[in-house]
Amino acid sequence: MAIQMVDLRGQYLRIKDEVDAGIARVLESTQFIRGAEVDAFESELSLALDGVGTLGVANGTDALQIVFMALGIGPGDEVITPSFTFVATAEAIGLLGATPVFADIDPGTFNMDPAAVGELITERTKAIVPVHLFGQCADLDPILALACDRNVAVIEDTAQAVGARYKGRAAGTMGGFGTLSFFPSKNLGCYGDGGAVLSPIEEWLDRARLISNHGSRRKYHNEVIGVNSRLDAMQAAILRAKLPHLDAFTAARQQAADRYDALLADVEYISTPHRADYGTHVFHQYTIRVHGNDPGKRDALMQHLKDNGIPSYVYYPVPLHLLPIYRDNKDSCRFGDMTHTLQAANEVLSLPMHTELTAAEQEQVATAIQSFFQG
Ligand SMILES: *Cc1c(COP(=O)(O)O)cnc(C)c1O
Repeated sequence: MAIQMVDLRGQYLRIKDEVDAGIARVLESTQFIRGAEVDAFESELSLALDGVGTLGVANGTDALQIVFMALGIGPGDEVITPSFTFVATAEAIGLLGATPVFADIDPGTFNMDPAAVGELITERTKAIVPVHLFGQCADLDPILALACDRNVAVIEDTAQAVGARYKGRAAGTMGGFGTLSFFPSKNLGCYGDGGAVLSPIEEWLDRARLISNHGSRRKYHNEVIGVNSRLDAMQAAILRAKLPHLDAFTAARQQAADRYDALLADVEYISTPHRADYGTHVFHQYTIRVHGNDPGKRDALMQHLKDNGIPSYVYYPVPLHLLPIYRDNKDSCRFGDMTHTLQAANEVLSLPMHTELTAAEQEQVATAIQSFFQG
């Protein structure tokens, strides 16, 4: 079997009975939108995440949009977020007419640098959205302190880091809001689209719940403009089958990361992921750097791996502030110094990482990497 970037099928076959039983249960109930299955999943997810309030929604991008709507973010407001990430965060900010403000990253963790955030805060800042990239938390305490001083909300984009911890606390539960994505390839993925809003503040979660269901608590008594963004029961049943395995899935990823670290320790031209001592890393991605700030060299390694039957991927080749949507429209965003963001985009390469990865496959990956540099 060829090495895969992600192996959803192998994982499904291991937990097939539980998943299939969940799907059958929903079919029998014919309660397809929300209902008991979604309620049960929300409670179980809450238990897994230190008791934080939870709300299932249609996907992780909607979760962000709903949270911004709940905070009343709109035209004239600014939201600080990293440029080195997936586009969803900035997209939801722009959709509501607010302006994304991009902060540079810490070169070690690839996460938003609190010092850069401090330099970008103004009276127009309404929220700060750290993204816990690749499975490791951003350094949250200094960001929370800044936000508290300035009375702005912190929203943790936890799409890639469900199960990670920061100084013992669960990712997604420390800010006013957290958001999750259950996209199939995420660490807790369903078999379609799904997402969640998290909040320790009951009134805030209530507001998000109202907005996610047409702005109505009672049918035909719509109170505010909302959206139709609900987790469906089929996905909730699949997630209920997978959630009890999340710790084991995480352990499998961490074990695979440890093996890569050992196999690649002596390769002089790359560095393996930095693990911050403030928390745990759940390795949504295992992302190495190819030294030299030269995308040509990194891309050549990627091609060499491909020639050896090994997939790899660049997350993310284009920082958000350089995407056509922002680059070609001066007023669409604001950003500070981007030195570390630009270097990361030139150097990063993510290797195969999933719960089914074997030691033999990882040795093959390491051998191919070594042969490239010795070549
Ligand atoms: C996947 C992802 C999202 C969006 O989630 P969807 O469920 O695909 O909408 C948002 N932010 C980050 C960092 C992601 O990785």
